[in-house]
Amino acid sequence: MVKKVSIVEKIHSANDQLAAENRQRLDRSSVFSLNFMASPGAGKTSLIERTLHELTPLFNIAVIDGDVATSIDANRAAEAGATAVQINTGGQCHIDANMLQKALNELDLDSFDLLLVENVGNLICPASFQLGTHKNLLIASIPEGDDKPYKYPAMYQDVDALIINKIDLLPYVDFDMPYFEKGVQILNPDLVTFPVSCRTEEGIQFWIEWLKEQIDSKKNI
Ligand code: MG
Ligand code: ZN
Repeated sequence: MVKKVSIVEKIHSANDQLAAENRQRLDRSSVFSLNFMASPGAGKTSLIERTLHELTPLFNIAVIDGDVATSIDANRAAEAGATAVQINTGGQCHIDANMLQKALNELDLDSFDLLLVENVGNLICPASFQLGTHKNLLIASIPEGDDKPYKYPAMYQDVDALIINKIDLLPYVDFDMPYFEKGVQILNPDLVTFPVSCRTEEGIQFWIEWLKEQIDSKKNI
């Protein structure tokens, strides 16, 4: 039993070391970077497409897409104007810092302002593998239900921003927003939150403004 625990700790400290190296590289090239985490179908790729639509006229953007098998999402990001790199995790249900490092090797980082990393759709282990990105972002969506902060607390505890996607579906789904918000509040009281619909574009402008501020503050360091 004890042996098992120490192996897990070793894996995590090795991962954290690589994550720190990733962060240094991104800082050196003044690239602001975000790690998008969510369950499958919450709208990670849709939000990335919407973000690219708004920001490719202003910034050079790279997308690193983690998926278990296909490159469907990376193709969508490339079509939306980003330089896209695909990580096929070979069945693994999250991206780790080592995979991100290999993907970073494929990019000329000095030529980018923004890096968006789309993690594998999963609400459990992505929370325990730091990648080295500047911010970790969680996308929740209305059809998933209002109990997710209670069921997946680790995911909500450590993120820097929360997107609540598909708010256009609120009239059709039993989603108790005060109950959801209370769960988030307990875990992460100061979490910056953006209710949006990628489909109708409601709320997207606030998300884009926040992101622009983050990119600009990175450039000014
Ligand atoms: Mg996707
Ligand atoms: Zn995993």
